[in-house]
Order: sequence, then structure tokens, then C-alpha cells
Amino acid sequence: LVVAHDLNKHYGHFHALKNINVAVERGEVMCIIGPSGSGKSTFLRCINQLETVSDGFLIVADEPVGFRVAGDRLIELDDRGIARQRLKTAMVFQRFNLFPHMSALENVMEGPVQVLRQPRARARAQAQALLERVGLGHRLDAYPSALSGGQQQRVAIARALAMEPEVLLFDEPTSALDPELVAEVLSVMRDLARSGMTMIIVTHELAFARDVASRVMFMDHGEVIEVGPPDQVLGAPQEARTRSFISAVR
Ligand code: ATP
Ligand code: MG
Repeated sequence: LVVAHDLNKHYGHFHALKNINVAVERGEVMCIIGPSGSGKSTFLRCINQLETVSDGFLIVADEPVGFRVAGDRLIELDDRGIARQRLKTAMVFQRFNLFPHMSALENVMEGPVQVLRQPRARARAQAQALLERVGLGHRLDAYPSALSGGQQQRVAIARALAMEPEVLLFDEPTSALDPELVAEVLSVMRDLARSGMTMIIVTHELAFARDVASRVMFMDHGEVIEVGPPDQVLGAPQEARTRSFISAVR
């Protein structure tokens, strides 16, 4: 569903992603681990088109990112085309970024109403169902300031789901949370994973990755060092750099 082929990203002279080759299948949960500055967020941001790719290829949900296929040619997308393509993914950030002046329900309805042009009644019913799914059916009318960090992050997950993306991207979704709130967010993510959602998750929660990931990808200095089943990458890593990272995080 997501394919990177010789993907490179430069920030000026800085080479942030170096020849990334990886394919994430539909229904897979790929956890990305690696030290600070290794390019994890940059990779997600390229998939989500918050960054443009410098070189190489990225395919998301059967479409080359930034292009449309016309016969055997690729035509660069205009802003509208990019906006439409971006809807195939939804990102959950470390900071929840909810609209502070809107209730939980309104936060989840906003995208479907404004962007997908859904009728309000339908968007409302769907938002309610999604908030129930993340365990917040009793807090529909609460404003973000009245919610805990864990609850806010669960609203953010419901908001991402409301856009019906083909891939959900998570960038350290629990890193900003107090430790006692991490489990409730991971539990929602675990349920999503079991439901067959395709997810790419940057996380430092190795126990979670081991439990939920179909594969784990270790990055260092902009390179993919190792990709494989969690038991292998986390339990019996092949590469010295992976081993030293894992023992440092534990
Ligand atoms: P962390 O665990 O700290 O979030 P990361 O693996 O997500 O790290 P990235 O944020 O992808 O790392 O950054 C990779 C490298 O690219 C870093 O060295 C960073 O300084 C650099 N970088 C990221 N964004 C930019 C930018 N907009 N301009 C220049 N350099 C950038
Ligand atoms: Mg990051």
C-alpha cells in the first residue's frame, strides 16, 4: 500500500533520507524505531506530503505521490490534486493539535464536513461512533482543555479515522503523555491494528511494537538499517547498530 523506492530527501545539503526501499502491505502495522535525527518523522512527512521527495519514488494507495498516471506518463499534480491525494493518509502527531474552541464531537466532525463535504447529520453520527470506539462516548461535548492528554490523543485518533484514510501515520503518539496515560492510547491503537487498519507508527514503545507490529523498521542516520518481524528486529537483531539502540532504549 505504501512503497518507497530509492527514496531520498535532502534539506539543503543535509541528506535526511538515504535510498529508502520498503513496502508496507495493506493491513500491515509497521513500527519505525531509531535514534533522534534518524529521519523517522521525515519519512512519515514525505508519505503525508508535508515534505516533498528529493529523489526516488513513493507510492501511496496505488498512486505515485505528487503525480498522476496518464497512459505511460507521469504528470505532476497541481495543488488540488495533491490535496486530494493527501486524503489517502492521516497523521496523528505527538501533540494532539485539537481545535481548542471546539468540542470533541466538533473536532471529529470538522474534516468530514469542511473537506469531505459530508452532510452534518451524517458526520455527527459517524463522529459519535468513532468517539465511542476510542472510549470517549461519554465526553462528546467536552472541550480539549477539559480532557486529559490521553483523552485528547484519542480524540485526535478519532479525528484521523473520520477522514477514512487508507493509511494512518503516527509520529510518537504517546511521547508527550504522562506515563499513566500512555496505556489507554496504545490500547486504542492496538484495537485499530487488530481491525486491519494499515498503520505506520514511529514509536519508542518497544513492548508495544513487539506486540502489535507486523514488522519493525530500524532507521539510523537516514538509512533503513534493518526491517523484519518484531521478534527478529527487537529480539535477535542482525545489525550491531540495531542491537546497541535497543539496549540503550530498554
Ligand atoms: P526524533 O526522534 O528526534 O523525532 P527523527 O528520526 O524523527 O528524530 P527527523 O525529524 O526526521 O528525525 O530529522 C532527521 C534529520 O533531518 C535531523 O537531523 C533534522 O535535524 C533534519 N531536519 C528535519 N527537518 C528539517 C528541516 N525542515 N530543515 C532542515 N533539516 C531538517
Ligand atoms: Mg521525529
